[in-house]
Amino acid sequence: MKTIIIGGVAGGMSAATRLRRLDEQREIVVYERGSHVSFANCGLPYHVGGVIAERSSLLLQTPETLAARFALDVRVRHEVMAIDAAAKTVIVRDLTTGATSTETYDDLLLAAGATAQAGATSPGMPTHTLRSVDDVDHINAVLGQSGASAHVVVVGAGFIGLEAVENLLARQATVTLVQRGNQVLSPLDPEMAGPIQQALETAGVDVRTGTTIVGASAGFVILSDGARVRADLVIEASGVRPEASLARSAGLRIGPTGGIAVDARQRTSDPSIWAVGDGVEKVDHIDAEPTLVTMAGLANRHGRAAADAIAGTATTDAAPALGTSILGVLGLTVALVGWNEKRLQAAGRPHRVVHTHPSSHAGYYPGAQQMAMKLLVEPETDAILGAQIVGRDGVDKRIDVIAVAMTAGLTASGLSRLELAYAPQYASAKDPVNLLGYVAENAKTGSTRSLQWHELEAAMATGAVLVDVRSSAEYQTGSIPGALNLPLDELRERHTELPDAPIVVHCQVGQRGHTAARLLSQLGHDVRNLDGGWLTWSAGLLAAANRADSASRVSAIR
Ligand code: FAD
Repeated sequence: MKTIIIGGVAGGMSAATRLRRLDEQREIVVYERGSHVSFANCGLPYHVGGVIAERSSLLLQTPETLAARFALDVRVRHEVMAIDAAAKTVIVRDLTTGATSTETYDDLLLAAGATAQAGATSPGMPTHTLRSVDDVDHINAVLGQSGASAHVVVVGAGFIGLEAVENLLARQATVTLVQRGNQVLSPLDPEMAGPIQQALETAGVDVRTGTTIVGASAGFVILSDGARVRADLVIEASGVRPEASLARSAGLRIGPTGGIAVDARQRTSDPSIWAVGDGVEKVDHIDAEPTLVTMAGLANRHGRAAADAIAGTATTDAAPALGTSILGVLGLTVALVGWNEKRLQAAGRPHRVVHTHPSSHAGYYPGAQQMAMKLLVEPETDAILGAQIVGRDGVDKRIDVIAVAMTAGLTASGLSRLELAYAPQYASAKDPVNLLGYVAENAKTGSTRSLQWHELEAAMATGAVLVDVRSSAEYQTGSIPGALNLPLDELRERHTELPDAPIVVHCQVGQRGHTAARLLSQLGHDVRNLDGGWLTWSAGLLAAANRADSASRVSAIR
């Protein structure tokens, strides 16, 4: 039996090595059009910044090491040009010699990844994607020529764009970040992304949302809002689309997302052809619809699963994709899972929102750091629809706990009942994930009604009275316009001073507000707690200001 694998990095190489472990007799040939196989694409930005100092650290395997350990026939600089599914052959071009050959297979695995979106138009300007070791070599060469004074424009404020920005700053480059949308990190909701834009600007990044590159001339790029930005180099990171051209030409079914359609065992519409990775549609955990999730974990997992299926040893179907992801940028950690609120709104799905701002570990133990958490919950079933966390320490483990909870079908309230490891330097006796569960449970039972940051203005316009229950010292440092200050500890005695009107209470993060809301509702007031308190409201305001700035750029273009 002979298996041909197209693409020799995440999904392809996971499949190849697994298949060898399952079947010592099979001939396994891997064609990779690039110069390297099994390289650490997720580490590429960090070699630009010098964090991964040795280029060789990115090269996890070579054709020689893979031949020695796994008896794989790995051909780099070999591009598969076409598939004849009926004849079970592929046409391969040796990119070094230019020679083409026709190769037969019994099973074929497509692991060709994704292609960069056509993005920046900057003729005459060095423009590179950040997707291969060769890209990094080119970027390093331009940075080397420009010295410490390099001006770099990064197009796209997604995960890879922001990783590029951070590492360019480490090289002392002057960085402009250009983003077509009206916020950075569009997988986040605006109030969660606002602080990231602020951190970028504080670090000296010129962040330009609501615009894109439309041309270039003599060391400058031209933006769609008419601005000219100095640039020695453009890094194109505005997203990817599935590399499905070979599959399409071979007559394989392409799904509605543009990715290759596969069944739960990674088999395409042709029974002898399998596909995995960024080029392939997944099934979404929330709505069971086809979706694109371009993450390394899924590519590796599905590569392994495809090998099991090819070898005939598969026993389980692929789990739906959650889209769990994480990013480190400028000391912040940003992590998310499931759907965001924007997507829920667009899909018209009912949802409840919880914002919290817990500490990474017990506040009395040195070094605790605050994080912002957002949980999205289906009101009818209490199912977790998604979560976003922005902070520093401890963000990674919390998002993973929530991802596990979602996979296991735990409810939002069920998070309160998880027994998680605690010692003061690691967590709190009520872990941030437990706290999310408590707030979700309160919302579910109706014991505390909440109001979102963007609903406050309308509530006040229709007569609600805003009561800031923080201390007067906190109130003096900054308050929401129109708020009365009635500190929580005085509320029991002074609540009669409150007018006979709907009341919205707020504190710094929502916790004292919850206590105030419980107290006032038991004293007969119609009360709601501003979810996430002052911190979420301020972040929302910041996001709205960024959006307005972005919108004014867009209207300037028209
Ligand atoms: P790839 O790993 O991209 O491999 C596809 C290979 O197929 C390519 O090498 C390509 O040259 C080859 N190929 C394509 N067409 C042909 C052809 N016709 N013939 C021969 N070869 C062909 N994911 C995370 O989960 N976490 C991260 O932190 C993260 N960071 C990233 C950082 C960067 C800079 C990049 C670029 C990606 C990052 N990703 C990350 C995404 C992750 O790398 C991908 O999801 C994963 O590599 C997809 O695996 P794949 O096998 O589908 O495609």
